[in-house]
Amino acid sequence: MAEVLNLECSECGDRLPAEPWIGLCPDCQRPLLARYDLTPLSQLSAKSFAGRLRSLWRYHEVLPLHEGDEPLSLGEGWTPLLSLPTLGRELGLSHLYGKNEGANPTGSFKDRGMAVALHQVRAHGISQVSLPSAGNAAGSASAYARRGNLTLRLAMPDTTPLANRFECDYFGFDTELVPGSLREAGVWLKENLGAPWVDLSTMKEPYRLEGKKTMGYELYEQGCGQLPDVIVYPAGGGTGLIGMGKAFDELEEAGLIQQRPRMIAVQAEGCAPIVDAWETGKEQATGIEDPQTMAAGLRVPAPIGDRLMLRTIRESRGCAVSVSDASILEAAGHVARSEGLFVSPEAAATVAALPLLRERQDVSPDDKIVVFLTASGLKNVDDYRSQG
Ligand SMILES: [Zn+2]
Repeated sequence: MAEVLNLECSECGDRLPAEPWIGLCPDCQRPLLARYDLTPLSQLSAKSFAGRLRSLWRYHEVLPLHEGDEPLSLGEGWTPLLSLPTLGRELGLSHLYGKNEGANPTGSFKDRGMAVALHQVRAHGISQVSLPSAGNAAGSASAYARRGNLTLRLAMPDTTPLANRFECDYFGFDTELVPGSLREAGVWLKENLGAPWVDLSTMKEPYRLEGKKTMGYELYEQGCGQLPDVIVYPAGGGTGLIGMGKAFDELEEAGLIQQRPRMIAVQAEGCAPIVDAWETGKEQATGIEDPQTMAAGLRVPAPIGDRLMLRTIRESRGCAVSVSDASILEAAGHVARSEGLFVSPEAAATVAALPLLRERQDVSPDDKIVVFLTASGLKNVDDYRSQG
């Protein structure tokens, strides 16, 4: 069991107590990072986790969990790391793997963040939370809010996939459909809901990141202590990318790893603020005016974690690339037919990026590469159908 020692501002480095609840650094309004005593972690190895709970809570040395508390869980995390031999052969990549996050309880990687964030909300005695979401996060938050007996208010763009809207209705929470993008949904909540509602927006509280970082711990454990050479990740809000970077920081600090994967962020051409910043050598992104892509999870025009994402990519010697909607659609069909995996458009974007990365020599034939298949395609049937 681990207690959060304090919360460190990712920008100014100030350290704040973890109690009472706090979302962002009060001085610079930037994300906060949970810090733990890493001594218990440093006494473990990749084999130490064997036989533990089959959920992300198996990494309890580095998660916020008080002694004796039951974690809020629907069995999230501990997803399969699958080899992708057919795709690998076609692309000339001998060690290509997919982390199948569609195996999570509500079908996406969002469950990791929601389980840990809502666990912490409940542990702080808070019962009302709000969230703007482009789709999968809303469905996930709804499930975990019900599981934890919490009240949730949602705002979503009116273009959100039908299945996501339906599942939120089914869980029985009030949802506002707002014209525009995720940005407008966030503005709606800000203008219409204040205290005591706690804002669960991406990177506006410290704990969704803690859940997402377990993807990094799983790669460490599933690789028997060896991390892959390259991680290819679809970056909307970027919590997963930043979270895995944090996991590798912790593993390194605990003396368990020496080498870290290169982190490659994939965005859609119609909404690529991180790629734009990366290509022009900037440390922070400029917001996109009219974000356009069929991948709802990549329609994030102004991510608040931009500086952290760019830092994670830079420090890992990675890069950022964008792909077209046409190539995302083609990749989704191809992954289904070649590997038997029906994945979301965001997940397909990582596969769509591989030929480009190969051509630019950002990846080599012998690299061990893990693409993050962040969600199942089952909630995107309407999107795929309408795109032909
Ligand atoms: Zn600060």
